[in-house]
Amino acid sequence: TAPLRELDPEIARAIGAELRRQQSTLEMIASENFAPLAVMQAQGSVLTNKYAEGYPGRRYYGGCEHVDVVEQLAIDRARELFGAEAANVQPHSGAQANAAAMFALLDPGDTILGLDLAHGGHLTHGMRLNYSGKLYNVVAYHVRAEDMRVDMAEVERLALEHRPRMIVAGWSAYARQLDFAEFRRIADLVGAYLMVDMAHFAGLVAAGLHPSPVPHADVVTTTTHKTLGGPRGGIILSSAALAKKMNSAVFPGQQGGPLEHVIAAKAVALKVAASDTFRDRQRRTLDGARILADRLTADDTQRAGISVLTGGTDVHLALVDLRDSELDGRQAEERLERIGITVNRNAVPFDPRPPMVSSGVRIGTPALASRGFGDRAFTEVADVIATALSLPPDDAKEAGLRERTAALAESFPLYPGLDGIGAV
Ligand code: PLP
Repeated sequence: TAPLRELDPEIARAIGAELRRQQSTLEMIASENFAPLAVMQAQGSVLTNKYAEGYPGRRYYGGCEHVDVVEQLAIDRARELFGAEAANVQPHSGAQANAAAMFALLDPGDTILGLDLAHGGHLTHGMRLNYSGKLYNVVAYHVRAEDMRVDMAEVERLALEHRPRMIVAGWSAYARQLDFAEFRRIADLVGAYLMVDMAHFAGLVAAGLHPSPVPHADVVTTTTHKTLGGPRGGIILSSAALAKKMNSAVFPGQQGGPLEHVIAAKAVALKVAASDTFRDRQRRTLDGARILADRLTADDTQRAGISVLTGGTDVHLALVDLRDSELDGRQAEERLERIGITVNRNAVPFDPRPPMVSSGVRIGTPALASRGFGDRAFTEVADVIATALSLPPDDAKEAGLRERTAALAESFPLYPGLDGIGAV
């Protein structure tokens, strides 16, 4: 019964320090967000104690009547929110959702066609060291060098040449919308399944601010913690016809007991995602990314050799292109960190620098939108970033920029009243 602070002060201290880091800096990692307090309460609940292998109404353990309510609510809300016939809310993560969806539809040795990791794809879309690269025969498609957009002519050519059993559409670092109808057409040409991994843009889809892949894809996977703003986890959406295959691929195919405390938190997040406040937040997320992309393509940044891939954005992130800049991705990431802005460096397609250094930075707006940022605050942070990246190193100027980010962090309090270990 001892509270965490007494039982394990080292862990309590680290959690407290992380809370203060999140409160005092500006989080702009595109895949991160701040879960609402209610989501964290559900996740920090007694549901963590419960074994519930199976699915609502068909469990291999007794005492599941309450977790059945929780999981059924999560399933119903996911189906409703995204207009899907079936949902599996058990995947522990986005990677596991993808593994299960592939496991459900493919045999080892089958060919998959996915976006190259170096061009914005995800590890699970066929990277050599990932399960997807080891189990399946991977063919990668790319973006075009001229405009950095996915080359649909190449997708069609590769599909006709290699006859994949599955085409994977989706990305981790791409600033534009994909043409799901065109992916469907190409998949149908060769009799392939179409899987869309909407992990990054699911929140925008939920808000109706991004086309939905659900009408076009055989299976749609997502994480629940990026734009969607829920707990860390995954969800699989499919047709009713594929639901049984998906369920058995998750359990017993990939996982044992579901994390019902996380599923409860997913249910809360899905309820939030159906609200007007959520839509407003996604709107601000998109507007913020556009403001950032505009500022990063202004004359002064262009003169410093800085731009953004594709010249702008339609989603919640901008991809800074440093190929013509003296600053590399690592230096940019470190410089922004010094002034209180957290981002991650990212290789850009056709990157001349090695991956550990890279020539890009991925900057996202979901977490700041969750903090309440609107146009004015995004304009200020965009100016701070553009100034930081285009100036030669200068300690005094950096100190000034650090003050501006600290002022922004203070103006948009995060988790006020939280003491660092989840208690309010
Ligand atoms: N799919 C995409 C497109 C992603 O960007 C990510 C995470 O970055 C994942 C899947 C994997 O999610 P997780 O980290 O929860 O395994």
